[in-house]
Amino acid sequence: MKRDYSVEELKVLDQKHFLHPTSPVKTENGPAFIFTEGKGVYLYDITGKKVIDGMSSLWNVNIGHGRTELGEVAKEQMDKLAFSSCFATFSNEPAILLAKKLAELAPGDLNTTFFTSGGSESNDSAYKLARHYWILKGEISRKKIISRSKSYHGVAIGATSATGLKGFRDFTNSNAPDFLFVDHFSIRALRDLIETEGPETIAAFITEPVQGAGGVHVAPDNYFKEIREICNEYGILMITDEVITGFGRTGKFFAMEHFNVVPDMMCFAKGVTSGYAQLGGVMISEKIRQEFSELSEGTILHGYTYSGHPMACAVGLKNIEIIEKDNLVANSEIRGQELLAGLKVLQAKYPFIVDARGLGLMAGIEISYDGRLLAPQIVTEAAKLGLICRSVVLEAQDIVVFSPPLSISQKELRDLLDILEQAIQEVENQVLANKL
Ligand code: PLP
Repeated sequence: MKRDYSVEELKVLDQKHFLHPTSPVKTENGPAFIFTEGKGVYLYDITGKKVIDGMSSLWNVNIGHGRTELGEVAKEQMDKLAFSSCFATFSNEPAILLAKKLAELAPGDLNTTFFTSGGSESNDSAYKLARHYWILKGEISRKKIISRSKSYHGVAIGATSATGLKGFRDFTNSNAPDFLFVDHFSIRALRDLIETEGPETIAAFITEPVQGAGGVHVAPDNYFKEIREICNEYGILMITDEVITGFGRTGKFFAMEHFNVVPDMMCFAKGVTSGYAQLGGVMISEKIRQEFSELSEGTILHGYTYSGHPMACAVGLKNIEIIEKDNLVANSEIRGQELLAGLKVLQAKYPFIVDARGLGLMAGIEISYDGRLLAPQIVTEAAKLGLICRSVVLEAQDIVVFSPPLSISQKELRDLLDILEQAIQEVENQVLANKL
């Protein structure tokens, strides 16, 4: 393909004109990769280099890259009806049918969806709907949202204010009020906080089923059951953030199914379209929906222009059809076990890997090496060798995380692990040679 700009020119233009999300402001040589194509678990960059997308492009492309069916559906829908608003009494077929499908798939009585364009909007919507619910119930002092340390809920002002990873909150010097935090695994701390603040001031508790951006932290058995009981006891709404964990990522359709716990609200995004279109949402329980319609005489004064976007919803429906048809949830469970087993082998071999953990195709290795940060070096070496993974260094952690597409084959998974081991070995060699 003939290009208007050389690779070097594009890199310069990128540095000058494109402020990247969640990235260093300064880069020496511009972007490491300019991707041009994707197929299955592979991404190809502008120079022709092929890499395994070991992160599904940020816990996202669950069905893998290059599924042309999604483009076909998007075109068909855009040719027919690219956009119409869902405000007031307007609707469209893909939004209705996707909401129905989600009600069938979601646990318990989570039967109604409010659509957004992504995860941050979904979380902000959940906080606002929860607070509005308490206004309707006449419990107007219930405003506070409790979240967990090491959590990540996005970058809209509400979602950032609920994010336990302090660095994100410190990015600005002003966040939204009425967000509180508890230690990420402590039931006792949650109870104490509720008692100290007064249960009548707490609107909701929000949690990721498996903390992703915070470093793939899997909760101990019974944790969520106990959380559910505490929420019931104090009348607090339980919100789960399945933005990463939904749509098969952990080996169940939604991760809370592992724990047999049904929240009052559930946020989703990413895997609903596998990133092929911008879509998210928050699902609410039948009970909350009924109370909304019985108690509310006004309007839900909360809605995005793109809530219920017809093209995005049509892509979501096709994406879910592929997840079901290709048995990707089962594949995620099986390949996830192999991934974890492979990481545990590496842990046994390299003493500075102090933990290997995960659930389904969401996994991580934790490193401890004389106070040095090795995860970013491993990620850099892996990228050179043909594997994209991600480091987590916030909160004094040193973790490498993985979330390959759910469609990954056994052979591709073995390649991922082989490349990872080469990268780890290379970094260890550099440390031993005093180069790091
Ligand atoms: N919630 C969780 C658990 C996430 O991991 C993310 C993003 O990674 C978000 C919310 C924010 O989603 P988005 O970036 O689509 O706004």
